Amino acid sequence: MPAATTNQFNGFLISKDANQAGTPGGAQQIAWTALTDADLMPGDVDVAVTHSTINYKDGLAITGKGPVVRRFPLIPGIDFTGTVITSGSSEFSVGDRVILNGWGVGETHHGGYAQIARVKSDWLIKAPAAFTPAQTMAIGTAGYTAMLCVLALEAHGVAPGAGPVLVTGAAGGVGSVAVTLLSRLGHDVHAATGRPEETEFLKSLGASVVLDRAEFAGTPRPLAKERFAGVVDVAGSTTLANAISMTRYGGCVAACGLAAGMDLPSSVAPFILRGITLAGVDSVMVPKPRRIAAYDRLARDLDVAKLDALTVTHPLADVIELAPQILAGKVRGRVVLEVG
Ligand code: NDP
Repeated sequence: MPAATTNQFNGFLISKDANQAGTPGGAQQIAWTALTDADLMPGDVDVAVTHSTINYKDGLAITGKGPVVRRFPLIPGIDFTGTVITSGSSEFSVGDRVILNGWGVGETHHGGYAQIARVKSDWLIKAPAAFTPAQTMAIGTAGYTAMLCVLALEAHGVAPGAGPVLVTGAAGGVGSVAVTLLSRLGHDVHAATGRPEETEFLKSLGASVVLDRAEFAGTPRPLAKERFAGVVDVAGSTTLANAISMTRYGGCVAACGLAAGMDLPSSVAPFILRGITLAGVDSVMVPKPRRIAAYDRLARDLDVAKLDALTVTHPLADVIELAPQILAGKVRGRVVLEVG
């Protein structure tokens, strides 16, 4: 168990009026708040948080536009990196650099938008030496999810040379890291975006073709012209349905997001006539060995110069104005938030 010393620190706290405390979303307040150990939730490791980031889900949590936060009051932030300051776990020692992604942190357990986090050691992994603390959060849940999507395509036989791989929402967080990874691995990457002004940016990350996302916005046909050997989709809804209908015989679509919507107006035709696979990708509850494998692959396959180029750094305080921007699809690439 963490030692009985009393830490005083600050963090963002989302709260609700007492009569609404059991209701996710809706009217809520967020404030930079003085906290102590007594405010923390159970866990066997305390981490001095140095960096966090903003993902789409954090945008939903901070604005209350989606039912992400399910306990009030709560420190948001679905991921963080930092240094262990107290450990009751044999796996982690004081001074270890660690990363946390998901596990309900920032949803039902206090998250990364505070100077100290207390979490279960089972949720932590050691930070790869290949990355600086800021780079681990430049990757963040978005980049780690992009790697999980790449692993899903590989597991279903989408190899470099098999044909173009489509990445939707390409100028966003998951999308920009997916473009970077797939291109480094030798895939022919076709990037779909609603921001034509980011064409040069996407080409600099390795996209060979930049497509207008309007191509994927019409009413999906059961079977469209076969174009893509693989797809990484962050949008869901009509975009995903169109991408499925355009996937080549035997191809695979890795679906991880809902930036366009949660519905899926598709048909069974691509599955029973083209044998395609729809691979669902979750990052929150992934078992630890698979997380470590994903970070090992990121350390091997992610071009850190490109990662740095797609990342901007802000103080944590800016997260309040960044939250509506990420929901509006106005944030390019990845954002590192300096916490410490
Ligand atoms: P970002 O906001 O950084 O990126 C989303 C991108 O989607 C936007 O930048 C935009 O890209 C595109 N987009 C937005 N609206 C639409 C639309 N109506 N139609 C088509 N494309 C659209 O978010 P993240 O990259 O952090 O997350 C992307 C999605 O992945 C989110 O839905 C998120 O919840 C999900 N996600 C899921 C995870 C999991 O565990 N399954 C983990 C991490 C993220 P552009 O401007 O290039 O068109």
